[in-house]
Amino acid sequence: MTDLAAPAPITILGAGLTGLSCAYHLGRAATPPPWLLVEREDRVGGHAKSHRHEGYTFDVTGHWLHLRDPEMQALVDRLFAPGDWARVERETRIWSHHAELAYPFQANLHGLPLEVVNECLVAYVESQREEAAGRSQPRNFTEFVTARFGAGMARHFFVPYNQKLWGMSPDALTADWVSRFLPLPDTAQILGGAIGLRQEGLGYNAHFMYPKAGGIDALPEALAKAVRDQSAKGEHGALLTGHALESIDLGARRLQLSGESSSRPFDRLVSTLPLPILIERIEDAPSEIREAAAALRWVSWRYLDLATRSQSPRDWHWCYVPETRYPFFRVGCYTNAMPSMAPEGCGSFYVELSDREGAIDMPGVFEGLAEMGAIRGPEDVAFAHERRIEFAYVVFDDAHAQATATLHAWLESQKIRSCGRYGAWIYNSMEDSMLQGRDAARWALTGAPARAK
Ligand SMILES: Cc1cc2nc3c(=O)[nH]c(=O)nc-3n(C[C@H](O)[C@H](O)[C@H](O)COP(=O)(O)OP(=O)(O)OC[C@H]3O[C@@H](n4cnc5c(N)ncnc54)[C@H](O)[C@@H]3O)c2cc1C
Repeated sequence: MTDLAAPAPITILGAGLTGLSCAYHLGRAATPPPWLLVEREDRVGGHAKSHRHEGYTFDVTGHWLHLRDPEMQALVDRLFAPGDWARVERETRIWSHHAELAYPFQANLHGLPLEVVNECLVAYVESQREEAAGRSQPRNFTEFVTARFGAGMARHFFVPYNQKLWGMSPDALTADWVSRFLPLPDTAQILGGAIGLRQEGLGYNAHFMYPKAGGIDALPEALAKAVRDQSAKGEHGALLTGHALESIDLGARRLQLSGESSSRPFDRLVSTLPLPILIERIEDAPSEIREAAAALRWVSWRYLDLATRSQSPRDWHWCYVPETRYPFFRVGCYTNAMPSMAPEGCGSFYVELSDREGAIDMPGVFEGLAEMGAIRGPEDVAFAHERRIEFAYVVFDDAHAQATATLHAWLESQKIRSCGRYGAWIYNSMEDSMLQGRDAARWALTGAPARAK
């Protein structure tokens, strides 16, 4: 095995999907360089981990794999046996005004009270007139959705839903993060959806992949196994779990890990840690870099791993809940995608909560879930465990673009690549993260500046 005390020219921080993909792709180089992958937890996977309790399996809320890149599809095919993954046609809904609407809201208004449909359509027509006259120049997310879909759809869905999700007014957000993820139906689709012609398959994720054995952690675990197998064969790298990065001395190019008495040298460094944490740990970061990092904002949220004794009466995989009278903004049912995620005939769910602090109104949550038909009734709940995501979504506000550009330019000048969802400080998917890990490996091997989105 590799001597862990030996110099590790390429050091990767964090064994989530980005760090694992980076190590994996380094290991596939014609002449793999020595590398060290450091993870603070005892398990790999980061946000793509799963938890198991009393026969129920939960991810860190919905983690459905959307593969668009042929290379990433080939990677998954290499890591798994044929048939290990299910292809699932997405079933998504919106619960509003006591009606279950098809997704996306803007293309499926049918089912709402007629006066709400009317309000949405009239405002939509008005927004199109404004746009055609060149009068709409949205400066923030609220203005963007109002200009694109009209004030009615903004009021009944986009603004309250995003207020609940972000825990802040969407006026404070730019529209930068939505471009790839927000379905933009045309007028025919919006009108057709309003009179009941169901508009399906819109958006980036009309189907997804999920491991049949249950638990998205199958993906990082398979990558970690491949990484360990590669390094055992070639003796060129090591995956070190249970050690956290504590500090970086850039001048000396040494880093200190928890539980170790001496620091380690590094040459190129690939970090997948949240960007503000990385900067905080660089002891000799200049003051203008610390200032840029101080401008970065993010949201944390709480959610429930919720287990029921019977299956969900509904068939959807997840459902958006914009109305403020419900204490959650999105609910997902793992077992509707993969029944093996609960004991036979039972249900496993995630419930993403809109309030961030204080005691959770569990009766209110259970009653809300029963009202929308997600569960049979409060008495059907076997257990509900509170969980927290510290870095859930990066906030795309006015400071984001400048601050991240400054930080990445400086880091790359120091031969540090900060990548992945929280390293790059972006909104992305598991596939994007694995692509970023691949690109970081290329950068570490060649110094090429390529950076995937
Ligand atoms: C709520 C939510 C839902 C999502 N849903 C989906 C979905 O349905 N589909 C999809 O494709 N994507 C989804 N994603 C995105 C997906 O989770 C990410 O793209 C991906 O997991 C990010 O991987 P990463 O390796 O970049 O970061 P992470 O998973 O955050 O990995 C970073 C690693 O660094 C480690 N670390 C942190 N600090 C230290 C330290 N000091 N020293 C050493 N190690 C450290 C962490 O423990 C972690 O393992 C979702 C994300 C969230 C938050």
